[in-house]
Amino acid sequence: MSESIEQIECLIIGSGPAGYTAAIYAARADMKPVLYEGLQPGGQLTITTDVENYPGYPDGIMGPEMMDNFKKQAVRLGTDVRFGMVTSVEFKNGGPQKVIVDGTKEISAKSVIISTGASAKWLGIPSESRLNGSGVSACAVCDGFFYRGSDVAIVGAGDTACEEASYLSKICSKVYMLVRRDEFRASKAMQHRVLNTPNIEVLFNTETDEILGDTTVEAVRVSNNVSGEKREIPIKGFFVAIGHTPNTEIFKPFLEMDESGYIITEKGSSRTNVEGVFCAGDAQDKIYRQAVTAAGSGCMAALDAERWLAAKED
Ligand code: NDP
Repeated sequence: MSESIEQIECLIIGSGPAGYTAAIYAARADMKPVLYEGLQPGGQLTITTDVENYPGYPDGIMGPEMMDNFKKQAVRLGTDVRFGMVTSVEFKNGGPQKVIVDGTKEISAKSVIISTGASAKWLGIPSESRLNGSGVSACAVCDGFFYRGSDVAIVGAGDTACEEASYLSKICSKVYMLVRRDEFRASKAMQHRVLNTPNIEVLFNTETDEILGDTTVEAVRVSNNVSGEKREIPIKGFFVAIGHTPNTEIFKPFLEMDESGYIITEKGSSRTNVEGVFCAGDAQDKIYRQAVTAAGSGCMAALDAERWLAAKED
């Protein structure tokens, strides 16, 4: 192997709660972790405002500040945090794993922890990005609380949209569910729950034209794609729940994934189908998707990697 190739014991890809928690544990286990931050340093929490559901912050904390704290803790304990994007990999059972950063730099890693997260899908209309964080959100569990007692709308018809509509119905006075077809995609049980909740009104064949409001959301303009009828619905919060895309494309040739691209890990562990490659956080979790569950799985990945390396060296 050429001397110019950097050798790393534990490489962590991604800088959300999963990646930084893995880094904290790996650093304390003397695995000298190197963490590449990726395109969005700090991950999805850097585009949210108040985080009130992460334990340990009794008064809540702003998302970017919390991620800065994660980073400081990982660095203080000895993680080498680097700005850069892993652009391709070549994995083989047992390693070492070949990783290319920013298209040029080659690294050889004994163990790899993937914590590249997932990105929410958006409708793609201008008012959605303009009011993002000011009434527009892709996470009801994170932000629903800010609209307690108000009317809100949620777009989507899958299990996530139904689950989030149910969640919102307990906090908000009324939830409009905007469904683009004349039926749900969600499981029958989830549909049943939504349709039997008195303060959820499902509007089928309904598309979002525009979210209205200057600095915060005031209403949504929708149209019926069968009748052509348009209407404005006054709301304070607009939630998008039309799916997520896991950031796992570059791993596809090597790792087992489900049909949506979520990496499959062994039950109760962070192990992937390639020995020495572990996965934590939203890249392998389409159900919970919370900072605290991502952090927990990051801890699991570091412990799994440490044990795997130790067993290999025995
Ligand atoms: P899905 O891909 O299942 O559903 C996305 C929904 O968004 C669909 O109803 C789709 O409409 C709609 N949609 C997509 N694009 C647009 C658009 N531009 N405008 C309006 N609507 C749009 O994503 P989910 O996040 O709901 O679920 C992902 C996976 O996770 C699924 O396998 C689900 O079963 C699973 N899950 C399971 C849970 C559980 O078991 N508790 C909880 C949450 C998720 P259309 O139907 O017309 O295509």
